[in-house]
Amino acid sequence: MSEVLVLVDHVDGAVRKPTLELLALAKKLGEPAAVFIGGADKAAGATEKLKAFGAEKVYVVDDTEVKGYLVVPKVEVLQQLAEKSSPAAILLVSGYEGKEIAGRLAIRLESGIITDAVDVADDGTTTQSVFAGNFTVQAKVTRGTPIITVKPNSATPDETAGAGTVEEFVPTISDAAKTAQIVASQPRKATGRPELTEAAIVVSGGRGTGGDFAPIEGLADALGAAVGASRAAVDSGWMPHSFQVGQTGKVVSPQLYVANGISGAIQHRAGMQTSKTIVAVNKDDEAPIFELVDFGVVGDLHQVLPAATEQIEAK
Ligand code: FAD
Repeated sequence: MSEVLVLVDHVDGAVRKPTLELLALAKKLGEPAAVFIGGADKAAGATEKLKAFGAEKVYVVDDTEVKGYLVVPKVEVLQQLAEKSSPAAILLVSGYEGKEIAGRLAIRLESGIITDAVDVADDGTTTQSVFAGNFTVQAKVTRGTPIITVKPNSATPDETAGAGTVEEFVPTISDAAKTAQIVASQPRKATGRPELTEAAIVVSGGRGTGGDFAPIEGLADALGAAVGASRAAVDSGWMPHSFQVGQTGKVVSPQLYVANGISGAIQHRAGMQTSKTIVAVNKDDEAPIFELVDFGVVGDLHQVLPAATEQIEAK
């Protein structure tokens, strides 16, 4: 059975959940082989985790020549591994970095690429959400090594252990790959909440909050959710742009999306309409958001959310 390369998304060796989801999908296509690019000191913990979630092999790539540069060295790592092992497919997390790596890699390998998949079938057919989530398309790569980026929360991690055989891989990074150097990077402020694009639950607030996000944050914390915002809330200066959900913000696809005081403009829907279950709280029963909800509450969010939070915390 051919390997399926999975580029590991991690922070200082802590493997992020979307990578575990990729491993579950990789099992459908062949033998999951995780590609961990990071320092040797971080590799051991990451390898254990990857093994526990089904990695048959873990390629450990020292990051001395990779860190400090933008994506191209990682492209070269994957290119060289692909040329070495002729994988059945290469899976990456659909984010800014994953998609850029995937695009560059597809050109180098002369392969087809599919981005923003929400499922991958045993035969490699992907389900893809396109045009801001307005259409669902089934597509399959027909040339070269299929390169597929998958949206977070599209699969359930499968805690069935693999062999986890570790193989060190030493890539040859070209000088041309090192032309874009990172001069400074700021860690994301720790909020104690999950990252917006990978959270299983997102609680968002819009103009209807009037700038008071306390009820939104209270409910989010009771549910272990991430906080999101509409552009109106961001443009008003109530929340930073990194919280914005929508066409010009982040695209989320959680199990549960709770929209509060958000009218449901097309540009906001573009970022959340593939959520599995959608709940809205809005005081206007004709707000367009109610067209796409599974559950709707007509009411003032300043009353509804604290009451809901209290009920949840009491459980
Ligand atoms: P509004 O449309 O003003 O809606 C506020 C809602 O709150 C209303 O439905 C009201 O009934 C309700 N409300 C008021 N008070 C309460 C209360 N006390 N309790 C309950 N409900 C209450 N928008 C995005 O969100 N993300 C994007 O990425 C994005 N990109 C854009 C890109 C372009 C090119 C353009 C042109 C627009 C974009 N927009 C985006 C803006 C979008 O068109 C809307 O203007 C925006 O989403 C509206 O935000 P809102 O729903 O919070 O505000």
